[in-house]
Amino acid sequence: MSKKPKSGNAPIQEFEYKAEMKQLLDLIVHSLYTHPEIFLRELVSNASDALSKVRFDSLTDQEITDREAELAVRLTIDSKELTFVIEDSGIGMTEEELIANLGTVAKSGTLGFMQALKEQQKELDGNLIGQFGVGFYSVFMVTDEVTVETKSARPGAEGYRWRSSGQGTYTIEQIDKPGRGTKISFKLKEDFKEFAEEYRVEQIVKKYSNFVDFPIYLAEKQVNSITALWQRSKNELKEEEVNEFYKFIANDYRDPLDYLPISVEGMVSFKALLFLPSEAPPELLYRQGELENRGPQLYVKKVMIQNECRDLLPEYLRFIAGVVDTEDLSLNVSREVVQSSPIMAKIRQILTGKILGWFETLAKEQPEKFKTFYKSFGPLVKIGLNTDFTNRDKLIELLRFESTKTVEGEYVTLKEYSERMGADQKEIYYHSGSSRAQLLAHPNLEYFQQKGIEVLLLSDPVDVFVIPSIHEYDKKPLKSIEKADIDFSKEKEDAAEPLPETLLDPVLKIFKETLGDGVEDVIESHRLVSSPVTLVSGKDGLDSQMERMMKMMQSDMPAAKRVLEVNSSHPIIRNLSGMIMTNEHNPLIATAIRQLYEGALLVEGSLDSTTAFLSRMNELIEAATLSR
Ligand code: ADP
Repeated sequence: MSKKPKSGNAPIQEFEYKAEMKQLLDLIVHSLYTHPEIFLRELVSNASDALSKVRFDSLTDQEITDREAELAVRLTIDSKELTFVIEDSGIGMTEEELIANLGTVAKSGTLGFMQALKEQQKELDGNLIGQFGVGFYSVFMVTDEVTVETKSARPGAEGYRWRSSGQGTYTIEQIDKPGRGTKISFKLKEDFKEFAEEYRVEQIVKKYSNFVDFPIYLAEKQVNSITALWQRSKNELKEEEVNEFYKFIANDYRDPLDYLPISVEGMVSFKALLFLPSEAPPELLYRQGELENRGPQLYVKKVMIQNECRDLLPEYLRFIAGVVDTEDLSLNVSREVVQSSPIMAKIRQILTGKILGWFETLAKEQPEKFKTFYKSFGPLVKIGLNTDFTNRDKLIELLRFESTKTVEGEYVTLKEYSERMGADQKEIYYHSGSSRAQLLAHPNLEYFQQKGIEVLLLSDPVDVFVIPSIHEYDKKPLKSIEKADIDFSKEKEDAAEPLPETLLDPVLKIFKETLGDGVEDVIESHRLVSSPVTLVSGKDGLDSQMERMMKMMQSDMPAAKRVLEVNSSHPIIRNLSGMIMTNEHNPLIATAIRQLYEGALLVEGSLDSTTAFLSRMNELIEAATLSR
């Protein structure tokens, strides 16, 4: 920078900004903005920093100027004159500091900022400015000229006035300033006159700086609440206050379901106050894109850095709201730096562990609350299972299922299932489909029901992506009840009299001829009790529900062939056997077989068209009514 004293003896010195600084200011001055109100957040945050510094210094330094001054930020606005003044009793700046701090800009900050600017098209997000540590200059979004009057808290320091229109130069002159600290004043551009309105300024302070650790006064009224609740320990928190805080930060009108204060000191230090919403917003579960815009707020030393910080939690936990406040990051940290910071990675790891522990405790100590939580967020727990391998075992313990031994809406854990299964049962059985009612009506369940074997009923669409990945629990394999290789042969004793093999074989043969390529095989069933036939997966096939889900996502996936199981004790099968003995060319036989097959498809929800099914049914009714 070149320093050229003005002509004459005027004590005002004019300075020129460096080239890159000029470029930056030019961009700020001449762009259109979204979020221009960010300027206030930046100025308040600078004031708050200056106050923190002086508070810290006066702990050890007896010589600090105005040791008794109240640590506060004061805003004075005039809606007629459009003037805006923000004043703090902070550390202030010496002349050298003014030049260094407001005349240049951290190189890394500028470069990153310019790069980000280039990537944006025409509108500039005011938020960007804050993220690149060029916060002070955001004031040029809303004004043409800024005056900074400041006096350092160092003993004997003089006051200075800095003034600039952001056009390439700035001036500095010495002044008499009564107290220590910094006063920044400017006239708002006509377009931004809203920022001279009390309600608006109050709203902005509440939005971005409500929990700044010093009072912020607007016309003698304190507008922030300074209750940094997350700095308190659990027994210092009042539920009512905590709930209000949640509603404020999460923009929710309901109380949270539960909250968790966290205080960590060690490799990284942070405090946090996290909330479980009482209900999931609908988009949270099924539109994953929305998840990206959620996450707790990140504070650094009580100043908000990011409103919805993605990097604090793994994606599947981003429904958790709250605040995380650390001293280990620098205030002007950019989004990119936050993302790749090892400190963030450590915080994320610790938070994840704490949150899963929280769920576990809820499940144990407040099962009703846990159930409410699980109803809303269970699918996300399941997504976590497939993405967070470090915590997989913990997540598996959180899973809950309805089963043939629970009533609707009640759950069983894998642990409970495994503990109450009979001594001779070696596997954990599940059955997947679209609803509890449909699942319970399925013929494949008959055997299990008759034997009193518990079967997990999976009706959440996410289940089919998750459960197959849990190969076993407590050394017991998880198995779909429709997998064809379940061996029931030893259990046959209570079945009704089956057809002897000599009679059954021709029946199976005709089934195969009639259904042809439609099925992989037709075999005798050992699992059916009251239904004539059922479909199961082939040895290597997927569970049918899983296959349906996969097909929905990948429409060209070829359908795996199924195995049709035939109940040799069922009257229909016995009657068919009789018809085959009399005349195996009787057309009713093929019609009946097709109808049985399609009926099996229908019951599991995979019959594509019912037209043929219905006309065949009419044909059969006609035959039945004719023979009377
Ligand atoms: P950042 O705050 O991210 O460092 P800014 O451009 O906002 O970037 O501010 C530049 C510097 O100017 C600050 O780091 C600080 O040293 C100084 N500064 C700004 N505002 C004040 C203030 N109110 N009191 C004292 N120093 C300030």
